[in-house]
Amino acid sequence: MDLHDRPRDSAFRAEVRQFLDDRLVGEFAELGGRGGSGDETFGFEVRLRWEKVLAEGGWTGLAWPTEYGGRGASMTEQVIFHEEYVRAAAPGRVSVMGEGLLAPTLIHFGTAAQKERFLPPILAGTELWCQGYSEPDAGSDLANVKTRAVRDGDEWVITGQKVWTSLAHQSDWCFVVCRTDPESRRHKGLSYLLVPMDQPGVEVRPIMQLTKTSEFNEVFFDGARTDGANIVGAEGEGWRVALATLAFERGVALLGHQLGFVREFDRIVALARENGRSRDPVIRQRLAQAHAELTIMRYNTLRSLSGIDGPVASPEASIAKLFWGSWHRRLGELALSVLGPAALVLGGTDETATATATAVATGDYDPAAYPLDEFQRPFLFSRAETIYGGSNQIQRNIIGERVLGLPPEPKGGT
Ligand SMILES: Cc1cc2nc3c(=O)[nH]c(=O)nc-3n(C[C@H](O)[C@H](O)[C@H](O)COP(=O)(O)OP(=O)(O)OC[C@H]3O[C@@H](n4cnc5c(N)ncnc54)[C@H](O)[C@@H]3O)c2cc1C
Repeated sequence: MDLHDRPRDSAFRAEVRQFLDDRLVGEFAELGGRGGSGDETFGFEVRLRWEKVLAEGGWTGLAWPTEYGGRGASMTEQVIFHEEYVRAAAPGRVSVMGEGLLAPTLIHFGTAAQKERFLPPILAGTELWCQGYSEPDAGSDLANVKTRAVRDGDEWVITGQKVWTSLAHQSDWCFVVCRTDPESRRHKGLSYLLVPMDQPGVEVRPIMQLTKTSEFNEVFFDGARTDGANIVGAEGEGWRVALATLAFERGVALLGHQLGFVREFDRIVALARENGRSRDPVIRQRLAQAHAELTIMRYNTLRSLSGIDGPVASPEASIAKLFWGSWHRRLGELALSVLGPAALVLGGTDETATATATAVATGDYDPAAYPLDEFQRPFLFSRAETIYGGSNQIQRNIIGERVLGLPPEPKGGT
């Protein structure tokens, strides 16, 4: 991939900038680029409105083919869009699951009727989706899914429990991996169903995270129903479809998230300058190391994305996931080192730490308030990034087996 803008890329970049200059104003600009992974509860309603502004401007479905209302943007254009989006501090997107995961899956595997029904509201930002894969005994070992679906006339009836379902409490629909052949084992006999969330058979229970927000949930299906036509791919062949969605998750959808790291890193450098810790030689060395790795990560991600052709996770995608997840955890630790002792106090910058200390001393401190600052929040949330989207251990297994050709680990119960 050539990393320099060609004339048509420069024109595209100018178009993105113009749109953001014109429309990223008022309540949208006030969000200051917040929201998104690890900060999902922040300004949700405003971000939902922003989604519609993006849609009106034709900036949703960037990578989708034009026949489905997308822009058919090249990989280079997608990178440019994300770069400009982050540079302008535009709001964290709320429709990542629908736009980045389900839609490309439907485009590859869906029927014409499914595409017609489900793609336009994703594009318009009027229907939000969540991903119903993980269960209490099926996380890394996803083939162990136990949620069942049976046919009842023209409908599927779904019973079982999902867990860690991000944004289920905000979602209109869920793409659910479930077992439609009760005699089947492992990855055989699974199907990929599209299930409406607003119905009596679906109960969503929020799970509180380290950040004291609830971005994910337990989801209980107790006789939940969906139309018989809402199955993606053939009955019993949901595994192939589910893996394709995962390949999208490990691919382009992560790009915007990673570009946000640049802004975080810059803020940490600015803080180190402000509070004088940039004079500490060890801190300087760690900042330089983080910067070098950030640059490597960017090139590595671009390399892995330029190799993607359809829903196949490349080995580079596993290397990239292992690298960025681990890097971001280390960046969180570095941010706290730069904060210094104030990192231990809620709202840890020196100023807010003093205010918190005063509130404690005067008895005005409210323990229910949990004002994590912009350094503490990613420090805590980044612990999750070496787990979701395939944990570090699972990525190492993939690299060991598929890249290095090491013997596969024994699979129990097959
Ligand atoms: C913030 C966040 C958001 C999420 N959002 C969603 C969502 O929207 N939808 C959804 O379906 N899921 C979601 N998940 C769930 C995520 O996909 C799972 O957490 C992940 O797949 C790991 O599964 P698990 O939690 O069951 O852990 P387990 O699979 O039980 O793993 C526990 C530990 O054992 C290790 N381990 C497991 N198997 C092996 C092995 N074979 N070899 C070596 N080590 C192994 C793991 O690496 C881990 O350290 C989310 C998770 C997080 C943290």
